[in-house]
Amino acid sequence: GGFESLGLCLEVYRGVKRKGYRVPTPIQRKTMPLILSGADVVAMARTGSGKTAAFLVPMLQKLRQHVPQAGVRALILSPTRDLAMQTLKFTKELGRFTGEGERVVLLLCIGTSASVFVETSVIFRRVLFSVLVLTYLRTSLLVGGDSMENQFEELAQNPDIIIATPGRLMHHLSEVEGMSLRTVEYVVFDEADSLFGMGFAEQLHKILLQLSETRQTLLFSATMPSLLAEFAKAGLRDPELVRL
Ligand code: AMP
Repeated sequence: GGFESLGLCLEVYRGVKRKGYRVPTPIQRKTMPLILSGADVVAMARTGSGKTAAFLVPMLQKLRQHVPQAGVRALILSPTRDLAMQTLKFTKELGRFTGEGERVVLLLCIGTSASVFVETSVIFRRVLFSVLVLTYLRTSLLVGGDSMENQFEELAQNPDIIIATPGRLMHHLSEVEGMSLRTVEYVVFDEADSLFGMGFAEQLHKILLQLSETRQTLLFSATMPSLLAEFAKAGLRDPELVRL
């Protein structure tokens, strides 16, 4: 079967096809239905397996579009700045492909009603533009090496998604008054063995303490050293274990 058998809604399914994916990889086939059902998942998967789409595609289906008052709804933790930047690029691409159809319909509706009242195309275009800006999911990248100031500004824009390295995320949590991870519903520890290998264990445990009990948590890792297995026990609720 293709992606149509995995429980994706039509919009997200179309987005995946527009991105050029025809057949799900084995890790995607096994994890996506579990993630969509709301389960916590530990997946043994390495880079190149298609693991990034395995957690980004269900995330887009869960978040759908920007919600101004909701706070941060998804948090992706990456071991390195490079991986975080790649994940950001991927999130934006998939989000754009996924949202297209819905937005075209929305724009047509608004366009039709607006053109009844508005003669000038300038105002018309402004309306369309602001609808686009309002509905797109917002993602903020919090990694070391970029200025804190720029990241403060991004955080002030109410991102739906944060993609972060643990050190920089903790730095923001200690600097920004009122910043909270309590609203986060969807947490991904990506390349978790590297997160631990790079010495982020203490920060990761501190981040766990700031999250709500009702979140969904996913952990992707190529290997499962005992420290990581203990962390998964502490941070995930009856996780489904996926191996290839
Ligand atoms: P990753 O393991 O997430 O680093 O992905 C490795 C590469 O596989 C990336 O270039 C993805 O764009 C690509 N990819 C992921 N899923 C699929 C798929 N179902 N079909 C084709 N390419 C894919």
